Amino acid sequence: MNTLVTVTHSGGVAVVTIDNPPVNALSPGVPEGILAAIGAIETDPSVVAAVVIGAGRTFIAGADIKELERAAHGDSAGPELHGLLQRIEDCPKPVVMAIHGTALGGGLEVAMAGHFRVASADAQMGQPEVNLGIIPGAEGTQRLPRLVGLAAAVEMCVSGKSIRATEALRLGLIDRIIEGDLLSGAIAFARDARIGLRTRERSDKLGWDASNAPIFDAGRELARKTRRNMVAPLAAIDALEAAATLPFEEGCRREREILRERLASDECRALIHAFFAERAVSRIADIPKDTPILPIRKAAIVGAGTMGAGIAMAFANAGIGVVLKDVDQAALERGMASIRKNYESSVAKGRFSRDIAEQRIASIHTETSYQGFEDADLIVEAAFENMELKKRIYAEIDGIAKPDCVLATNTSTLDIDEIASITSRPEMAVGLHFFSPANVMRLVEIVRGARTRKPVIATALALAKKLGKVGVVVGNCRGFVGNRMMLPYMREAQFLAEEGATPEQVDAALYDFGMAMGIFAVDDMGGLDVGWRVRQEYKHLDKPGVRAPLVLDKLYHMNRLGQKTGAGWYRYGGDRKPISDPEVEALIEKTAIEAGIPRRSIAAQEIVERCIYTLVNEGARILEEGYAQRAADIDVIYMTGYGFPAYRGGPMLYADTVGLKNVYARVREFHKHFGELWEPAPLLKRLAESGESFASHDNS
Ligand code: NAD
Repeated sequence: MNTLVTVTHSGGVAVVTIDNPPVNALSPGVPEGILAAIGAIETDPSVVAAVVIGAGRTFIAGADIKELERAAHGDSAGPELHGLLQRIEDCPKPVVMAIHGTALGGGLEVAMAGHFRVASADAQMGQPEVNLGIIPGAEGTQRLPRLVGLAAAVEMCVSGKSIRATEALRLGLIDRIIEGDLLSGAIAFARDARIGLRTRERSDKLGWDASNAPIFDAGRELARKTRRNMVAPLAAIDALEAAATLPFEEGCRREREILRERLASDECRALIHAFFAERAVSRIADIPKDTPILPIRKAAIVGAGTMGAGIAMAFANAGIGVVLKDVDQAALERGMASIRKNYESSVAKGRFSRDIAEQRIASIHTETSYQGFEDADLIVEAAFENMELKKRIYAEIDGIAKPDCVLATNTSTLDIDEIASITSRPEMAVGLHFFSPANVMRLVEIVRGARTRKPVIATALALAKKLGKVGVVVGNCRGFVGNRMMLPYMREAQFLAEEGATPEQVDAALYDFGMAMGIFAVDDMGGLDVGWRVRQEYKHLDKPGVRAPLVLDKLYHMNRLGQKTGAGWYRYGGDRKPISDPEVEALIEKTAIEAGIPRRSIAAQEIVERCIYTLVNEGARILEEGYAQRAADIDVIYMTGYGFPAYRGGPMLYADTVGLKNVYARVREFHKHFGELWEPAPLLKRLAESGESFASHDNS
């Protein structure tokens, strides 16, 4: 035993307490501590049974992900729990696992080695390893189906979702739900317990070949549908299949082989990168952890359109009261109608009760004047994307807002310093770039202006967290990080269409690569008028002689604005499913021929390389110019805001995985063929030539 694991006694029952805050992860020292405790229990004649319990708010919540990261990089063989689990299971005295909070991954695997499991009513259990690109690797794929049956084990390992105590009891994962004090209930249970068959000796729920085949088929189908392109869920099913067909020890060996393969996979490395990258974004080099944070209890929003309404819901959901202003009553009613519709659909889906929905709606007050803005802690401007309008609004707000009010704009592309310059307090201004739908999308780009005070940034980061979102601090350049990279991505997709690929082919290639949606479908969803408006703001920057997409403005003038008008790059029927439109394809072809662009058939690989590498090249410029603090921040932006697949780790990690030398070589070829827009970013060149990676480049 050690400080992480202690043993106390209650009557004849030894209580083994794991105390490794915050979540009792299986870090080095914990397995050793449990092993020593079991040894002591075996030899102590006064002990008749044992209870294993977690201190604080949870049982063992999972493996130590730092350990997994080391294993994924080949720096360790990975956590090895076989000896411990065997020892627990072989203990001649009953070992009762007492679960509260969560028993996830390695935590559940330890629990399953006990002879019995009891849980408090609000406990949750699961095998979420698939989210890190691995499989349960401490015999979870062998013990879980023996306890809950194959169908439930397949579902749990593929979905990675936790189940609640009542479901766990129904399935046989636990033996009793303890109402009231868990420890005393577990001790009473342990005193009466008699060991029967050990889990590994059981086979009654393992089925037989003919009955199992459809379970595995359905599991593989589920994996392909819900975890597109991922290997880990399919690998978990292979390991579960081994449980059904091999003796326990051999099944465990097979599980370990599969785990080792998964740990060495790009998929696992990418998902572990995504996990840590998301946690690292709030660490800002020059903003210490103890920077004061301004309390945000009341927010005011200018504009009740798509974004204003979504942002209002995000605040209401987090318990922050809102004043929502628009130019007239009709606009406010439209905004509130969309808010109401949204909440009604959540109630219908059982996400929360009607009462909660009503409370949230009631916390949003509407105004056609600035009434109620005077005591707001935060004002978010979400009016049209137009510099003059935004400046006018900021000037008006400046006369009303209290001195320590944070002044935020939701602009997607405009210079936030210029907007703030109109006020007497540019140091209180910040960009809060929410994504649509703002009540759902997790990303918020926090745009730091030249004069933004550190407490304002710290407040924005804390607010994002409170809203259940991921706030990433970015610099103030055109389009910030996400949209700045979108511009060349979207442009390249259009060039590919002009050169001979249909929008549908481009979208299919990107979707097959793993993007949540193809780029043309995304454009139709957001509305072609949005991009058109932005282009008008920046027309003065267009360079004559540089290739520019030719079709987008034509579609705009044909009122093909995307889903909202029933047609854009695609046509739309009753639902939102894009249907390829020969009229658009003919328009693209005609336009290309008139412009003298040679047409050819284009392979999916070229589509993916050109679209994704243009993201990478722009990302490299952003990183070098210091508009993103680290490559991983760009990855988080793309994974949480732009549908980039987490199992590829974001565009920058993806480039590192392909190898920057290879990416650079392709970018140079494209530069030669397609001209100046493909000029390699100096940082990409430098890192590729020196054999380094983006991951090694950190501006903090
Ligand atoms: P929208 O057209 O849906 O809504 C704008 C609203 O602002 C309208 O209801 C309009 O009446 C109102 N408005 C205009 N002037 C006003 C004033 N002086 N006072 C109060 N209200 C006023 O636009 P949107 O899509 O919600 O975009 C709003 C902002 O958010 C823009 O800056 C846009 O670039 C940005 N943004 C949009 C998206 C998106 O996907 N739509 C995503 C991120 C950021």
